[in-house]
Amino acid sequence: MKDVQITRLRLGHVQLNQNLHKIGQVDSPNCSVCDTDEDIHHFIFQCPKQKELQRQLKQTCTDHRKAYNMRTILKTKECVDVLYEYLRIRNIFL
Ligand SMILES: [Zn+2]
Repeated sequence: MKDVQITRLRLGHVQLNQNLHKIGQVDSPNCSVCDTDEDIHHFIFQCPKQKELQRQLKQTCTDHRKAYNMRTILKTKECVDVLYEYLRIRNIFL
């Protein structure tokens, strides 16, 4: 399950509004809180709804002397673990 989720994130095949809108499942591609495209970059770096995730990822990157960016986050084991755990305990399936 973890591998499936992380692969989807890496491919950008996520169930966020930008993609759901393309297949006609939601009316707007925008985040329900922010008036901007809800894609994986928005989710991981910008959305105030995921503030706690952003804090944890930033801290993990700092701890492991890694740059805080998408590439690091999706390729560093420790970051992937943080991300997966965050989604799991909140029952978020992207
Ligand atoms: Zn948002």
